[in-house]
Amino acid sequence: MRLAFFGAEGKAGGAIVPRLVAAGHEVREIELGDEPNVEGCDAAVDFTTPEAAPPNVRAVLEQGVSCVVGTTGWQPEELGALAAEKGLRLFVAPNFSLGAVLMMRFAREAAVHFPRAEIVELHNEAKKDRPSGTARMTADLIGGDPAIHSVRLPGLVAHQEVIFGADGQLLTIRHDTTGRESFADGVLLALAKLGELPPGLTVGLETLLS
Ligand code: NAP
Repeated sequence: MRLAFFGAEGKAGGAIVPRLVAAGHEVREIELGDEPNVEGCDAAVDFTTPEAAPPNVRAVLEQGVSCVVGTTGWQPEELGALAAEKGLRLFVAPNFSLGAVLMMRFAREAAVHFPRAEIVELHNEAKKDRPSGTARMTADLIGGDPAIHSVRLPGLVAHQEVIFGADGQLLTIRHDTTGRESFADGVLLALAKLGELPPGLTVGLETLLS
């Protein structure tokens, strides 16, 4: 596909763009201050900031191009309505790591049989918020208000364990993110499935996994 990538020089973009190119996509990099010109592109991808993403996405949709967004911290509903009006797709995922999404799915499945669980999320000390959004989302999915333990230490990247306890047995489901390039698999999947989505807003990588 011919892609426009907003935020290609950011930490996430810098890890994702080489994987998109290696997968055969042609990528036009659009940085802060560049015209948001997506003419001739099949889709756009945005990993920028909560302030930049809404005007970027609006400009993309107004040029008749569908969009995949990884930027977090903004509300996509209004632009989802604009996409629907124009018969375009707006796909937004707060977590593009396939492993993390599968970890949440497996945890939800396990919770049906193991009602007692606690979550341990471990991140690099640079992450100031706690608990992580993924841990909160996992707690919502498994229900029962599980305790969440947050660890912040140097040497960690992004890791999560969901520990299910029952009489005489433990089940632990764990995911480790070791590099930002892991987000590229989710972006590639979203781009591959974009044309099959209904027009308008779709949220979450889990919606693309059969
Ligand atoms: P980052 O390193 O700060 O990168 C953001 C990039 O966007 C920078 O290169 C910045 O340029 C650029 N930018 C800012 N405004 C722009 C504009 N109007 N048009 C084009 N580019 C613009 O941040 P990051 O760690 O890569 O994260 C980016 C976003 O993705 C955050 O919202 C983060 O939460 C999210 N994220 C999501 C996932 C996921 O799985 N969904 C994974 C990783 C990150 P300057 O440096 O010149 O300002």
